[in-house]
Amino acid sequence: MTSLSWSTPAPGGGRRPQGAPMGHAAMRSANMSLLLRVLRSRGGSSRAALAQETGLSKAAVTTLVGELAERGLVQEGRVERRGTVGRPGTEVRLDGRRVAGVGVELNVDYLAVCLRDLAGEVRFTSSIPMPSQAGPGPDGARSHPPALVIDRAARQVQEALDVAAAESLWIAGITVAPPGPIDYAASTVRFASTLGWEAVPLGEELARRLGPDHPELALENDAKLSALAEAPRLAQRGIEDLVYLTGDNGVGAGIIAEGRLIRGWSGFSGEVGHIGVEPGGEPCRCGRRGCWETLVGLDRVLAVLDPQDPALSALVPMQERLARLRTLLEEGDPRLLQRFSALAEDLVRGAGVLMDVLNPRALVLGGYFGYFADVLVGPVQAALDARLLADGGRVEVSGSSHGLFAAAVGGAAVAVERVLENPMLAPTVPR
Ligand SMILES: [Zn+2]
Repeated sequence: MTSLSWSTPAPGGGRRPQGAPMGHAAMRSANMSLLLRVLRSRGGSSRAALAQETGLSKAAVTTLVGELAERGLVQEGRVERRGTVGRPGTEVRLDGRRVAGVGVELNVDYLAVCLRDLAGEVRFTSSIPMPSQAGPGPDGARSHPPALVIDRAARQVQEALDVAAAESLWIAGITVAPPGPIDYAASTVRFASTLGWEAVPLGEELARRLGPDHPELALENDAKLSALAEAPRLAQRGIEDLVYLTGDNGVGAGIIAEGRLIRGWSGFSGEVGHIGVEPGGEPCRCGRRGCWETLVGLDRVLAVLDPQDPALSALVPMQERLARLRTLLEEGDPRLLQRFSALAEDLVRGAGVLMDVLNPRALVLGGYFGYFADVLVGPVQAALDARLLADGGRVEVSGSSHGLFAAAVGGAAVAVERVLENPMLAPTVPR
């Protein structure tokens, strides 16, 4: 078993200080949480085995399992056939189908929503191009006013909540992923350079639109959520140190070290797009020159196409735009072939720095890098191997397993985790 923590508390988040006294209700909740975690990692288990595993008495396990069943979190399974003497035990299983979380990703190119249950099954998903309006200037640059974006996001979330209600799912929480650093205490996006946002009270504005009865809502950075979504796949193989790189017009990193998400003291960890890799290079959104994302941002790839190419249109869904790029690449478009062969090299210019600083065992390519994993993973792996200082430091490169909308999947997974932290949040199920 690995000690992967999905729900590292946010800076300033309220977690009981170590050693503080625990009330009866808190103790019961903690023990229920322990049972759920054992059931999740073990699958089904008898009450006796649960008692043995957790150190709780059999009587306590029976009471707690009863309460978990009332809340629809566990169910009685098949009878165990042990082939030994004595009464066969009834198996208790995690019931992952009644509780779900919602993840929302705001990206410069799209708005995606995912409804995922405790069992990890995606029950509903939707995505639309990022709402925008034409700018006033002669270049017609499109902008993303917060009110317009949040209105549309609220409608998409409501759609997911309606699906959940129709399927009798209880929603443990909603996690929203904006593409930039977050002020966790204020539920505000500090800035998102790709959207042109600064100090946007996203949490409050979205909550207001969802009405007074909305589920608990939290913000988390897109790359961090994508890393959390990917972590279980790697943890199964004992890998607890990973860097997830998400690529769109900007580049972000989600860092998991020793099984824990690293936020940094103010939540700014992983803002890697502005690592300087080319002194005196192209001007960047941030005002400096030669930042990593001026070399590997998606807009840099798109810039080699004809201005009229549909892959450039912000009004076309992202998957179609990327599919168009793939078609051109497969047809041997020389501009794209050249760009992609340089892209792997440019990726390593920044990724190499991250590997030296963080020494992860896995590097996961997400966003559009992940969409083109078949083209990029090989060359990136080879280039990183070539610059290794010692044999022990090799990193394993792979593409994201949750596709383009990994942050929404991760957001839903993090939201539903609230119920594993505190099972008493789940309402009792009417019989
Ligand atoms: Zn920059």
